[in-house]
Amino acid sequence: MQPLSIEHINSLIESQLMSWHEAKRNFDRLMEIERKPLQLGDFHIAAQLNPARIRSTGAAVDKASVAARSCFLCKENRPAMQMSGEWPTPEWELLVNPYPILPVHFTIAAKKHIPQERIPLEMAMMAEYAPPLVFFFNGAKAGASAPDHLHCQAMLRSELPITALAERYHPVERAGWMSSEEYGLHLPFNFMSAVIKGDMAGLEHLALTESAFGIDSETGKKDNELVNAFFWISDSGYLRIVVVPRRAHRPSLYFLPEGERFVISPGAVDIAGLLIVPRKEDFDRLTPETAARIYSETAFSGSLPKEIINHFLPGSHS
Ligand SMILES: [Zn+2]
Repeated sequence: MQPLSIEHINSLIESQLMSWHEAKRNFDRLMEIERKPLQLGDFHIAAQLNPARIRSTGAAVDKASVAARSCFLCKENRPAMQMSGEWPTPEWELLVNPYPILPVHFTIAAKKHIPQERIPLEMAMMAEYAPPLVFFFNGAKAGASAPDHLHCQAMLRSELPITALAERYHPVERAGWMSSEEYGLHLPFNFMSAVIKGDMAGLEHLALTESAFGIDSETGKKDNELVNAFFWISDSGYLRIVVVPRRAHRPSLYFLPEGERFVISPGAVDIAGLLIVPRKEDFDRLTPETAARIYSETAFSGSLPKEIINHFLPGSHS
């Protein structure tokens, strides 16, 4: 299959929106969306006011609520207008996301209704097939609004600040995994990045992604569902991966009484530097300090726990 160019991607979206008016309306609304930049040390992010995302940010993702609704990623429940694009991984379907965060926003769903319990390595193949895009994954407890149906999403890789950060500070000569603590920057949280080359060592580095985990701040237990991951092909042609281990899905600010509360519920896009804020009142009073607090409560500010470093860099002494 020919790799997907940006022109292909745009025409896929255009043809979908011609026949799906509700999705078209949501895409058109993106034109008037407010954004503001926030500088958190060396991590330059943006907040996006996006009221339509309340259905995702405020989604009930506990087991009972999920079991009680019909799955919106299963083919039989999807709107008849939702087309699925040609795709190189046969067990998956490419879908235009009808509630977009950005003008290019896909959901790639497994054809089978199987749970969101591992980082799918097929994302490496997807990245190779569509070099303008970054493919990202929300663990079932780290932002997925369909934790019962395996899926990932994709956007233009230039839109997510974490990709540029990893490309700039993780040198391409350094194949394998590296902790962002070694970037020598002031970051609101730390993560693991990788440069994957096409040799045996590269395959081994890639395989470690699947069993990545976060650590629940309440129970202290390792959890494969508390992770976000990003896959893309960098300009140098190598596969890049970022894994962000999480300690919680939602920050304490989410649970405060009305008036003090922030309805912000970070998934992969937020963690990557585009903080989605559905309510205007939260958007207006969001400061860099509040954003930094949200990151430090949901991911690891300071050092990454030793067991996480040891997973990616076995035998390291850090
Ligand atoms: Zn399903």
